[in-house]
Amino acid sequence: MFIAHLPAGYLLSKYFASKSKTHKIPWGIFVALGLVGSILPDLDLFYFYLIDERQHQHHSYWTHIPIYWICIYIIVASMFILKKNKKLLFITTFIFIDVMLHIILDTVAGGIIWGYPRSTEYFSFFTVLPQYNWWVLNFILHWTFLFEMTIIIFAFTIYTTSKFKIANDLKVYKKA
Ligand SMILES: [Zn+2]
Repeated sequence: MFIAHLPAGYLLSKYFASKSKTHKIPWGIFVALGLVGSILPDLDLFYFYLIDERQHQHHSYWTHIPIYWICIYIIVASMFILKKNKKLLFITTFIFIDVMLHIILDTVAGGIIWGYPRSTEYFSFFTVLPQYNWWVLNFILHWTFLFEMTIIIFAFTIYTTSKFKIANDLKVYKKA
């Protein structure tokens, strides 16, 4: 997935908020956490371009391998459970769900090593064949990109019709 991770993260924040499950975290902060979580695995792109010089597929880095996030979540969540810190446990869980959403969305047309460490095979729901020289076109011109556009349009519609606009809410938060 290329450009729909942030809108998907926003929609997830909205969903949690609609269920009143924000532990009284201000909406601006809450949605910011959701947005950060939704692109967290793609931080490996800095490593991919700046250090690794595109030697390996960026989905092969640990940041796109589910088992690592599951382990991190179990460790961090256990810590907050022991400390009985419900708010931080909630934030950890929320970010973890955002990260997993990212990885699931990346599975639509790009491979993810879901079976790691038992298997190093990439799994994707749909296969995008290399038809164009510029790899980006292979994804943008593939029908699965419509799914991406649907997420973007849906998030944009929700955002523009929402009474919880981020900017307004941040203003209210600053005043408080
Ligand atoms: Zn990704």
